[in-house]
Amino acid sequence: MKSVLIHCCCAHCTAYTINYWRQQGYEVTALWYNPNIHPYTEHQQRLEAMRSLAKQMDFPLIIAKGYDVIDYFRKIVGHEVGRCRYCFWLRLKKTAETAIKYDFSAFTTSLFISPHQEHDLLRKTGNELAEEIGIQFFYTDLRKYYSDSRRITKPLNLYRQQYCGCLYSEWERYTDVKIE
Ligand code: SF4
Repeated sequence: MKSVLIHCCCAHCTAYTINYWRQQGYEVTALWYNPNIHPYTEHQQRLEAMRSLAKQMDFPLIIAKGYDVIDYFRKIVGHEVGRCRYCFWLRLKKTAETAIKYDFSAFTTSLFISPHQEHDLLRKTGNELAEEIGIQFFYTDLRKYYSDSRRITKPLNLYRQQYCGCLYSEWERYTDVKIE
């Protein structure tokens, strides 16, 4: 059976994404790797929501070892305006490498359901990594299903985040600051 490893940014974007790829005939597995989520307690709350979703929707969840926050900040410092580029690269690279390691047919990400993410940059990053690492990458624009995904998770009482993930995004969320 065809299999896809789905990088998962949060439970709420993952729910419909899992159903979508199942409907396409894929055996789905989720990967948790998000060192861009700060602080650590916030990371753990979102991970706990993901664990609960995996249990309730019955899909396997791989949790990558480590919280590479030092690596994240070393790369971002001095490039705060364009930080999403490295953030996407870091997370998709881990997904592509894990997909190869465990023999998946392809990889993708739940970020494609979010209207808040830069799809062109994500797609470009995924395609470049696919070529470099030697595995298929799937881009599908799932943005029109964003609300459907949240409808699935609403009755599940899962922790719901209020900002994208990094400290910069949290600062922007609660102030008028726009890092540019
Ligand atoms: S805003 Fe979101 S996607 Fe961009 S660097 Fe921060 S956590 Fe990553």
